[in-house]
Amino acid sequence: VKPQSFSASPNNMLLARLPQQEYQRLLPLLRHVTLEFKHVLNEPHSSIEQVHFPIWGVVSAVTVMQDGDSIEVATIGNEGMVGLPALFGDEESPNRMVVQVDGEAMRMDASVFRAEASKDGPLRRLMARYHTAFHCQVSQAVACNGLHTVQRRCCRWVLMTHDRVQGDEFPLTHEFLSHMLGVRRVSVTEVLKPLQDAGLLSNRRGRVTVLDRAGLENAACECYRTVRNEFDRLLGEPSLKD
Ligand SMILES: [Zn+2]
Repeated sequence: VKPQSFSASPNNMLLARLPQQEYQRLLPLLRHVTLEFKHVLNEPHSSIEQVHFPIWGVVSAVTVMQDGDSIEVATIGNEGMVGLPALFGDEESPNRMVVQVDGEAMRMDASVFRAEASKDGPLRRLMARYHTAFHCQVSQAVACNGLHTVQRRCCRWVLMTHDRVQGDEFPLTHEFLSHMLGVRRVSVTEVLKPLQDAGLLSNRRGRVTVLDRAGLENAACECYRTVRNEFDRLLGEPSLKD
């Protein structure tokens, strides 16, 4: 069961891991904002002005090559935050950070975040652990892309996205999924068809609906569970159940 409403308790799973008193102290420094589809939160090598703690939605970290070619290297949702380099006083983002599924976030000025995270307190300890968990997520994705079948990777990607949206349905164009999975656009249909035939999901008019969550978990590679377990191990159980 996913959290359903925005309330005094944090729906960003990272903020949910702060002691309640610390969260209440930081709350006036956070602003509730919407994440618009395709909005760029940071361009590569531009200064990070704000950090975002997503509540719903998915943000892609994209690496841009010199010739303009780009590929997605990580996705961030309500398990994490956008603007991690600001933690170490780095004022630049190495990636383009772009909203892939629209949603909502809690936003904090980067200068305020830096000042708060430089204090020896719960936020600093939490962010240090999140940095390790994020590194685990990225390294697992590198291994996954090299070792696991496109079918299983697709299930993993659908589960990760399902965790980060409201409800069971979200937008997914074949063009986007082909970038995600590193396959030609025509192959996306071949990848999705067995999953549809097995009743795990439906895919119509650029939207995916999750029909059988447990079935998708069985069909996904181990990487989905590995990353979730590592987040729980490093960060502790969130106060909100997922
Ligand atoms: Zn994998």
